Amino acid sequence: MRAPWIAELDTSDWPKWKNNAACMYYPLELFFGDEREVTSKHTEPRSKDQTQQAKRVCITCPVMAECLVWSMQRGYQWGVFGMMTEHERKRLKERFSAYREQEEGQEADEVAA
Ligand code: SF4
Repeated sequence: MRAPWIAELDTSDWPKWKNNAACMYYPLELFFGDEREVTSKHTEPRSKDQTQQAKRVCITCPVMAECLVWSMQRGYQWGVFGMMTEHERKRLKERFSAYREQEEGQEADEVAA
């Protein structure tokens, strides 16, 4: 049985792979936190325990790669997607940007040589 929160969402524009998402059977707060945590001193809107539980769900998910790419393409700022927190996705994006800049610099150097 799916989590009750699914019934409250308009899922008509969701990609088909989301139908196989393991998180459909878990509470939304596990992945996004809740108001109690947002107003606490945590830098993320979830407790560490919530984040670890969410990641344990993600690791079983058959669409983890699709989910991570989807969330990064959309620049989601909150939530665990594809086994990564918002901060981990931000760091990954920064590292990828730095790598791409380095690659472009090397290509420009090769053209100039
Ligand atoms: S990877 Fe995690 S957040 Fe993404 S669909 Fe699967 S269970 Fe949900």
